[in-house]
This record gives sequence, C-alpha cells and structure tokens, in this order.
Amino acid sequence: MIPLDNAFQGKKCARCRQVIQSDPAFADDLWYHRSCLEEGQRALQRAQALAARFREASEDSRPRRRQEASVAGHRGRSDGGAR
Ligand SMILES: [Zn+2]
Repeated sequence: MIPLDNAFQGKKCARCRQVIQSDPAFADDLWYHRSCLEEGQRALQRAQALAARFREASEDSRPRRRQEASVAGHRGRSDGGAR
C-alpha cells in the first residue's frame, strides 16, 4: 500500500508540472493531480474509441469469417435471454 497522506509531498504532477498539494493520484509510477489524471484518462479513452472505430471501419471494408461467427454467437445468446 502507498501512504497517500504524505507520499506525494513535494511531488510534481506528471501532466501539468505543478506541485501537488492535494488530490494526488498515482499511476504508472508517476504522480498526478486527480483531475489531471482523469483528464488524461478521458483523452486516452477518446483516442482508444477513435482507434476502435477506425479499426471497425477498416474491417467493414474487408469482412472476415471471425466477424460472422461472433454475430451468430451473440444472436444465440440474446434469443435465450429473451424467453
Ligand atoms: Zn496536474
């Protein structure tokens, strides 16, 4: 466990480079303000969502068998749940 109450004293936020005085967050061996970390995660999620959408779009133009199999499996499961 990390002693959050004073371990962040004198640390600087890895995102905005300001000294952290309250609301510390520790991630990937770096200290952040909690708000900075959340903002960074939101940006990361947006980037991942964009990447996923881009991947789907490129798979749509080139249909694969694996995609059909996953659709069939999903339909079977939802049929069972509906009854
Ligand atoms: Zn910060």
